[in-house]
Amino acid sequence: MNQDNLISKAKEYCEGRGARFTHLRESVYALLLKHEGAIGAYDLLDELKRTEDSAKPATVYRALDFLLEHGLIHKVESDNTFVACQHFDCSHPVQFLICDDCGSVQEIQSSGVKESLEEQANNLGFKVRKQTIEAHGQCGKCI
Ligand SMILES: [Zn+2]
Ligand SMILES: [Zn+2]
Repeated sequence: MNQDNLISKAKEYCEGRGARFTHLRESVYALLLKHEGAIGAYDLLDELKRTEDSAKPATVYRALDFLLEHGLIHKVESDNTFVACQHFDCSHPVQFLICDDCGSVQEIQSSGVKESLEEQANNLGFKVRKQTIEAHGQCGKCI
């Protein structure tokens, strides 16, 4: 799906949930889609300022919170960066392959990982609410 389609899909998705996909939220989501790999909030702010000169850190954080809450983006906890999700209408466990050389982040969905983690957690009487797996290494381009 191309970016414009994804953006209109995101808009419909938010409106369907009674949330407003404002111009600013849309701009932040569009920047994340355009960006290959993950990006930090301050780099995002720099890019946003090219079109929204009044943007402040709080503006970006509020937009990111909204996008996270609705599952349109994911946070890469180990790097404190953000990445757009392209299949946001299904809630899914997230697995990231993070390249430490070029910073690219690929999102993969491996259901086997989810099930075996859940099984082991169940055996320990642990209830999993959310799974995020972050694998660091080198991507195919950097090896
Ligand atoms: Zn995702
Ligand atoms: Zn790489």
